[in-house]
Amino acid sequence: MITPIIDLHCHSTISDGLFSPEDLVRYAHSKNVQVLALTDHDDIDGLERAKGIANSLGIIFINGVEISVTWRKRTLHIVGLNFNSDDKGLNDSLKAIREGRDSRAEKIAHGLGMAGIMGSLEGARSYSKDGAVGRIHFAQYLTKKGHAKDVKAVFKKFLTPGKPGYVEHLWADLESAVSWITKAGGDAVIAHPGRYDMGSKLYPQLMEDFRGLGGVGIEVLSGSQDPSQTNYFANLANEFGLLASCGSDFHGPGISFRQMGQIQKLPQGCEPIWNRWPVVKDLN
Ligand code: AMP
Ligand code: MN
Ligand code: MN
Ligand code: MN
Repeated sequence: MITPIIDLHCHSTISDGLFSPEDLVRYAHSKNVQVLALTDHDDIDGLERAKGIANSLGIIFINGVEISVTWRKRTLHIVGLNFNSDDKGLNDSLKAIREGRDSRAEKIAHGLGMAGIMGSLEGARSYSKDGAVGRIHFAQYLTKKGHAKDVKAVFKKFLTPGKPGYVEHLWADLESAVSWITKAGGDAVIAHPGRYDMGSKLYPQLMEDFRGLGGVGIEVLSGSQDPSQTNYFANLANEFGLLASCGSDFHGPGISFRQMGQIQKLPQGCEPIWNRWPVVKDLN
């Protein structure tokens, strides 16, 4: 049996991706993706648009979102999958997070202004268009203005802890994010665990807390974590009874770490999260 190409984490212009929801799905199709979740940051406005194209191209579409949370003073990302996108609680909560992003963006611009970079809020908004402003939009503007050679270099120089455009921000708490997703009928998943650099004591603590709150999965494979970490997270998933998810975290050519649809197979022994979804499970 051939393993289907499943990509459960990517972004469109609704948050900080380069492609519209429609173009993103067409792009996924060109990369032979068979099951796709669109997971924009704190926003589910792109889901209906993406689903329409996915249906016409024969791609199985899964509703998704990536929610920023604060856990023990750290920022983590929680992916929600396969929820009801009409759920009022989820929609209202995401709206509140986006409003928080607006005031955060003002603070980022202030910090950059102190470093002599003026006009960055308007500049970032010209990239975010109608969506909430994120650090990538500042990075795109600063790159265009020649403050660093590319988006990655801008993050390093301006937008990470200790740098002039970094602000501490209190996101939703882990418990709230998991409960919004779960109450909307979806599955909560820890996104790109390898990005958090937490060490061998805190990782198990996170898994335990998350599981206790009703979280069900973790991204064992992620385009934004080092493949050498795969087995560590596969083992943690098994130890804590969490299911395995996988996604490219694709944002667009040139600003992503990994290409869409180029996900390896899950390690043996992992239980895939899509076994919970009959429409995908039956593909295998
Ligand atoms: P925000 O949610 O506004 O804090 O922005 C986080 C987003 O910035 C992530 O989802 C990535 O898309 C992007 N990002 C974070 N770190 C980097 C980096 N070092 N290089 C490029 N993009 C990054
Ligand atoms: Mn992003
Ligand atoms: Mn993320
Ligand atoms: Mn992401």
